[in-house]
Amino acid sequence: MSSGPGRRPPRHWMDLTPDGRHDAVAAMGLPKYRAKQISTHWFSRLEDDPASWSDLPVAAREEVAGKLFPPLLTPVREQTADRGTTVKTAWKLYDGNLVESVLMRYPHRTTMCISSEAGCAMDCPFCATGQGGLQRNLSTAEIVGQVLAGARKLAAGEIPGGPGRVGNVVFMGMGEPMANFTSVMAAVRELTRPEPDGLGISARGLTVSTVGMVPRIAELAENGIPVTLAVSLHAPDDELRNELVPLNQHFDVDTVLDAAWEYARVTRRRVSIEYALIRDINDQSWRADLLARRLRARGDWGWFHVNLIPLNPTPGSKWTASRREDEQAFIAHLEHHGVPVTLRDTRGREIDGACGQLAAAVDAR
Ligand code: SAH
Repeated sequence: MSSGPGRRPPRHWMDLTPDGRHDAVAAMGLPKYRAKQISTHWFSRLEDDPASWSDLPVAAREEVAGKLFPPLLTPVREQTADRGTTVKTAWKLYDGNLVESVLMRYPHRTTMCISSEAGCAMDCPFCATGQGGLQRNLSTAEIVGQVLAGARKLAAGEIPGGPGRVGNVVFMGMGEPMANFTSVMAAVRELTRPEPDGLGISARGLTVSTVGMVPRIAELAENGIPVTLAVSLHAPDDELRNELVPLNQHFDVDTVLDAAWEYARVTRRRVSIEYALIRDINDQSWRADLLARRLRARGDWGWFHVNLIPLNPTPGSKWTASRREDEQAFIAHLEHHGVPVTLRDTRGREIDGACGQLAAAVDAR
């Protein structure tokens, strides 16, 4: 079967707005209040089998299941680390494409790292996903479904630590979320919409990460849901960033940082500046100084935070993580300029290999 970018997966309840759900049940000849009942089963009680929704007539359950709950995500491989508190799942989509998500449980919070596209068109040479190009955008249901699957595992007590909830969602899996803006925004609305019409996750818990699609950063700010913006900078100078993040040839460092600063100004949310440290490529102290100067030139009121990520080498790559002493010097130079910086702990490092980025990129927030 063809899996070109134009193909859309079958329509799912999670693709619809609350109004759209009313219309969908009405189209089946059901009263509108059924929509609320269905959403309560799906989003509030996390019941995934329509056959068990006993307050709906049997015939309605079957019709609703058949028309509005097509199976979209089939787990094909699951790997765990950190005594079962990190779980990476590879999902097969209805058309055979694969995406991955990672659940990370910490003592006081649980974060899910999810994919927004199958593959990615951004072509960053150090990123495993970029090497395969873009297969297609994910639908809203395919995006939210990854979070829902984690929420079910947590609620069912399958993750050590007792029953729990997903509090944070980061769009740092496969894909460039800003390149699939409409579906990602609908997913953001659904994740934050209170139960039973959504998952009721706080906007503060959501992070959208981008290579720097500047017009979309402005749109995100106008959208009214103050998610955290993460910008994958990786170099403070255009010469190197043109290579590491090819989109820089269209939106250069200054343009991207201006957009990030404006996002922080409008939303009052601190922007996360992502910087994967790559040995002898971008980890020189002078680059730390330049990074600090360029960030602070836009204001030193705490509008940003630098998140350093040890490079997770992708198979066959000529690049690797920085030496410990270079990493420490880079941090010291940033701190000398008063830059708030953290070095990310790479959760589940041993299960990152296949993807090369997922868990490595998740904030230790
Ligand atoms: N396309 C978006 C989101 C997906 S990548 C973006 O680029 O922001 C999430 C983060 O992981 C990005 O900061 C990305 O640069 C980083 N990343 C990708 N490959 C990596 C690798 N091999 N090692 C460490 N971080 C990586």
